[in-house]
Amino acid sequence: MVLASDQSALRELATSFRGELVQPADPSYDEQRRVWNGAIDRRPALIARCTGVADIVAALRFARSTGLTPAVRGGGHSFPGLSVCDAGVVVDLGQLKEIEIDPEAGTATVGAGVLLGELDRETQALGLAVPAGIVTHTGLAGLTLGGGIGWLMRKYGLTIDQLLSVELVTAGGDVVRASESENADLFWGVRGGGGNFGIVTRFEFRLNPLGPTVLAGPIFWPMTDSAKVLRFYREWIAEAPDELMTIVVHRRAPALPFVPTELQGEPVVAIVSCYAGPVEEGERVLRPLRSHGRPVLDLCEPKPFLEHQAMFDPSFPHGRWYYMRTCDVAELSDEVIDITAEHSMRIGSPLTAFPIWQMGGAVARVGEHETAFSGRGAGHTFNITAITDSEAGFEEEREWACGLWSALEPHHSGGAYVNFLMDEGEARVRGAYGADKYERLQSLKRKYDPENLLRLNQNIPPG
Ligand SMILES: Cc1cc2nc3c(=O)[nH]c(=O)nc-3n(C[C@H](O)[C@H](O)[C@H](O)COP(=O)(O)OP(=O)(O)OC[C@H]3O[C@@H](n4cnc5c(N)ncnc54)[C@H](O)[C@@H]3O)c2cc1C
Repeated sequence: MVLASDQSALRELATSFRGELVQPADPSYDEQRRVWNGAIDRRPALIARCTGVADIVAALRFARSTGLTPAVRGGGHSFPGLSVCDAGVVVDLGQLKEIEIDPEAGTATVGAGVLLGELDRETQALGLAVPAGIVTHTGLAGLTLGGGIGWLMRKYGLTIDQLLSVELVTAGGDVVRASESENADLFWGVRGGGGNFGIVTRFEFRLNPLGPTVLAGPIFWPMTDSAKVLRFYREWIAEAPDELMTIVVHRRAPALPFVPTELQGEPVVAIVSCYAGPVEEGERVLRPLRSHGRPVLDLCEPKPFLEHQAMFDPSFPHGRWYYMRTCDVAELSDEVIDITAEHSMRIGSPLTAFPIWQMGGAVARVGEHETAFSGRGAGHTFNITAITDSEAGFEEEREWACGLWSALEPHHSGGAYVNFLMDEGEARVRGAYGADKYERLQSLKRKYDPENLLRLNQNIPPG
């Protein structure tokens, strides 16, 4: 609830605000406070559903004057639920849906409320793409500000590597632009530094040609073969071109229409591929993998990129309970493979699906210090994700995720992708960036948000 003492500030906000202001007594409150992770249940004092820049400025001013903590929400997919808070103000950007494609210039201007699938739909109509993530209902804003890894990154780079400029409202309420030539320090920071320096209202991206047909999809083996399959996989990807991007998933085979009934619920290891080049070339590159051992199901085939992009959607729906531990490793050594295979056999929940991302390619060709993103040299990123339908069994699955993460600890390569962190404290954020980058980010924070108003993020306090 907004306190009685803050009622006059609320009245003033209401006179200038064009969007909707949702309070606990309003009928839509429960729906509006909900985020993707069902394990997060927070009750903000106010949800300010912004329609544009002026609303964002007004909502931030209200938060500053009342002392209520602002939480900024793009797509609401933060694993630890950083885009909703107890007793604060949610600055909801979900209605900023502008998508403007300029095929001549090869650019897309995108509002902060756009979801990945919404952008892909528009760009793919023209055979173009902004490389982003692998689940269509993820918010583009939060994903981009952390870096953005996905199916096209090995060919074209991270999402931030396509970024040409941003428009941003600073904590002080100023509207500024940042690009290589304007506020270049800020532009460096927003490419990996998350929402620490202001609220981005719109992004301008470079577009890249793609498909629209790609060779893509999963090939499954029994999980008992995991160690053998991963040893083969390691050698196979060592020779692979940048067009190939793969994600290894350990899970019980899902109860989805394309999975034969007898396989559903069985522990499997899947290698999911996406070949961002000519299909025939992809067929040649994929041939050794699909003939390795005895796959139990092969769904890797030519398909529209949009269809492939939606493949993981049923595995990560809104409302389930999610927990995640992340780490990078330099390589899939024998030890890393054996630990992974052994712990995966102990996955308890039929919903847990745990991805290991192949990194490298164009991601690693940008210098580690050119943007705030850390971990360009990583070989693989582990997303050890625990998933249950509700609270029942969640703690046990969380322990499984923590157990695997700890067993891999001697092999962690240092950094971590900030968009995959939970609420793990300042030392972990510092470790994710490394000391040099963290200091540079802190000095930016002192310049753009000295009071740390925007602190519900992977926070970099001004120091
Ligand atoms: C199902 C799922 C799939 C995912 N897949 C991928 C993937 O393929 N690749 C990948 O890189 N990541 C992936 N992620 C991680 C994802 O990048 C982060 O969860 C990201 O924060 C989501 O962005 P959002 O806008 O939906 O989140 P939100 O929860 O709305 O925001 C996350 C953080 O960003 C801040 N923020 C959001 N918008 C703005 C803004 N406009 N200005 C300033 N700060 C802002 C918020 O304050 C918060 O701290 C995935 C996450 C989920 C849940």
